[in-house]
Amino acid sequence: MLIVNVALPVPIARTFDYLLPDNTAPVVGGRVLVPFGHRQAIGIVISIKEHKELTISKLKTISKVIDNQSLFSNSLWRILNWAIRYYHYPVGRVLFHALPILLRQGKPAEITPLWQWVATEQGHSTLPKSLKVPKQQQALLILLQGPVYCNQVKKLQLINTTLEELRNKGLCDLRLQKKKSYDWRPKFSVNNEWRHLYLNTEQSLAVNSIRSEDDRFFVWLLAGITSSGKTEVYLTVLEHILAKGKQALVLVPEINLTPQTIVRFRKRFNAPVEVLHSELKSSEKLNVWLQAKSGECAIVIGTRSAIFTPFAKLGMIIIDEEHDSSYKQHEGWRYHARNLAICRAKEENIPIILGTATPSMETLYNVQQKKYRQLTLSKRAGKAKPTEQQLLDIKGLPLIHGLSAPLLEKMRVHLQVDNQVMLFLNRRGFAPSLLCHGCGWSAECKHCDHSYTLHQQQRQLLCHYCNSQRTLPHQCYQCGSTKLIPIGLGTEQLETALKNIFPKVPVTRIDRDTTKRKGTLEIYLAKIQHGGARILIGTQMLAKGHHFPDVTLVSLLDVDGALFSSDFRATEHFAQLYTQVAGRAGRADKCGEVLLQTHHPDHPLLQTLLNNGYMDYANQILKERSQAGLPPFKTHILFRADDHDNQQAGLFLDKIRQVLESSPLRDNSLWLMGPIPALVPKRGGRFRWQLLLSHPLRPQLQRFITANLPLINNLYQNRKVKWSLDVDPLDC
Ligand code: ADP
Ligand code: ZN
Ligand code: ZN
Repeated sequence: MLIVNVALPVPIARTFDYLLPDNTAPVVGGRVLVPFGHRQAIGIVISIKEHKELTISKLKTISKVIDNQSLFSNSLWRILNWAIRYYHYPVGRVLFHALPILLRQGKPAEITPLWQWVATEQGHSTLPKSLKVPKQQQALLILLQGPVYCNQVKKLQLINTTLEELRNKGLCDLRLQKKKSYDWRPKFSVNNEWRHLYLNTEQSLAVNSIRSEDDRFFVWLLAGITSSGKTEVYLTVLEHILAKGKQALVLVPEINLTPQTIVRFRKRFNAPVEVLHSELKSSEKLNVWLQAKSGECAIVIGTRSAIFTPFAKLGMIIIDEEHDSSYKQHEGWRYHARNLAICRAKEENIPIILGTATPSMETLYNVQQKKYRQLTLSKRAGKAKPTEQQLLDIKGLPLIHGLSAPLLEKMRVHLQVDNQVMLFLNRRGFAPSLLCHGCGWSAECKHCDHSYTLHQQQRQLLCHYCNSQRTLPHQCYQCGSTKLIPIGLGTEQLETALKNIFPKVPVTRIDRDTTKRKGTLEIYLAKIQHGGARILIGTQMLAKGHHFPDVTLVSLLDVDGALFSSDFRATEHFAQLYTQVAGRAGRADKCGEVLLQTHHPDHPLLQTLLNNGYMDYANQILKERSQAGLPPFKTHILFRADDHDNQQAGLFLDKIRQVLESSPLRDNSLWLMGPIPALVPKRGGRFRWQLLLSHPLRPQLQRFITANLPLINNLYQNRKVKWSLDVDPLDC
């Protein structure tokens, strides 16, 4: 008799044995339906073994075999098994996390036919250039590279009426997606029209280096300043990879997944480029997943979780903006997609490119250790000119809604010659707090250690930590005074102020409030590109990845807070953010200018950053981290616990500390800190505590945790306490 070992999506670090009914053939990595408690659950087969002297009478029998082939590629299977040990996360949870939602629910692993726009035969034999209307040219070009799902139309900056015009000409049509698979390889070619024939010297060097090693595992750091042509390098090296019939995975941070990026990849290759991101419907996600697995699509561009896409023949992984913290999952299984990607490249024995203008400390450290090789693009590509950067000392200057007179003057100069101005303020809402002038009361969230943010337009107070809200009071809750005054500056207020100061200039604000509805961000971005907006106000949503050729002045209004934060990563993040924001200025043939308003113009951080650039500054941070014994020189593992009354969480972590301290495996290099309250001690009504472990040697620390985790799991667990373990935490 055979026994099947099955992983279930439960929060326990174990698997379950079942008996196999006759005439069924489950596969390792495939799904089965099994009785679990009083219900039926979907599980993933971990192994199938011959039973020995087990008391099998107690085992239940599998109810149904769902898949007759594994849902995971061999390499993905090995990586996930490695990740279970690395992140100390329950096996079932990890495996299910890696699957599209529909598969977790037991739906069949097959394409759901969906409506798509496709180029007709006539469309395929028509040259886009022969069309008179540019929008039609663009639309046909994109369709020639592959079908477009109906709800991707906006994402690709296409317009339904344009598509209908093309349909009237017989060039495209709406069709239900075919289930039959299609092979792009024999017809693969590069659209030379969209190629820059002359890469500059640094780009060529980068391309040649990567090409010389593109058949095996190799980690490249492509450190290129904004607009230095990194994307051009990706595209050029991908030509070879695709020409060999291999596929590629391109990871981007969520907000960088812009139409521009997708269109650029689609235009370049005559091969299917598919996109995976959070706005897709479950059925669309599953379809892309299946197309990658069967080899039917050539490139998948996706956000964090796209790292779990199976590929028939993966040839390269690219991580754009590798420093971006959105690659780290912040709840549940707290994996880092860059970490998994490097591991995956190693398993698949393929090259991986980490591209960024502002490498993370982890990556720079690995370059120093000679584990990764750095390629540098130090100049802006094409005609783009370097930007001029300046500190604007605002000590003692009067500020109108956060704007100093010299800044307003500069804005006038740039606006007068029809350029765009971008103001960066990383705080949405009207004002970060509301204060009673009568008694000093300020509106604080009941559930968090945090002030309510005033949102004037919605007439609401909103907590940005837990999203709780209340209507805007007319009177102080404490003394009844009606003199409630907004304190501080948010993007909404800035927008109102600028509309008054520059009444004739169109102002566009881009933040999470203005782009809540699906597709609105795309509409705003298009508006900016076509000159329909002259002053752009944005939070970090606007700071990254977008190309705005007419922006010539960029100003950061209020970033001093980052200089004095208690989080040791704050300076790194500030330097990255500053460099990204500054990179928005002057991308085309126009000179760019960056103005940073500050009360601390002499701060060494600002001086190094502005005078010597990010890389110099990063090296300085690395030295400091090394001296202070902080990551990446040490490995951190963080236990977190929270409760609702601040009674148990700290105590529970204290018990964990006792277990760890009394462990015979403990060595002198292990350093424990805590339990202490978390950086944000109260959030969403939960009191949060943490216990930090630090060790110079990762394998030692990992073994120590593995050995002690069963004891920790067995600790008397108060139901009121929720706890988790975070390997390589980013916020502690
Ligand atoms: P990055 O990804 O580093 O921000 P991009 O690859 O997007 O840079 O390039 C920035 C701009 O410069 C784009 O408009 C791109 O088309 C252009 N560009 C890139 N490489 C070259 C080149 N070798 N010659 C001319 N223009 C280039
Ligand atoms: Zn009051
Ligand atoms: Zn709150």
